Amino acid sequence: MYVKPLDENDEILLQERRRKIKEYQDKGICFSCENFITGDIFTEDGLIIYEDDLIRCQFEKFPRAVGQTIIVSKQHYEDISEMQLDLGTHILRISNDIIKLHKKIIGAEKVYM
Ligand SMILES: [Zn+2]
Repeated sequence: MYVKPLDENDEILLQERRRKIKEYQDKGICFSCENFITGDIFTEDGLIIYEDDLIRCQFEKFPRAVGQTIIVSKQHYEDISEMQLDLGTHILRISNDIIKLHKKIIGAEKVYM
């Protein structure tokens, strides 16, 4: 697995993201839901590869591995156990398409979830 080292500027931006996440959490605000309003956590930056009424999928700006993709539900859930099975099925179906793209375009040998 290839891990991209972050340059100094990316490290600063990542620290800023962590600071904003903590700020939202300290206020009891879900940072994932808030991001759909502000766009200040997972900045779009042309990284969105799929979006519909239920989910948004985008490449991580500061990836731990090549092709790291973030999938966020537009419906808020405290944790994944609350998620409707239909949404889980939808996410898996879209993930399967993204996995195929990772293998075709990035040349990924293995894809992890
Ligand atoms: Zn939420």
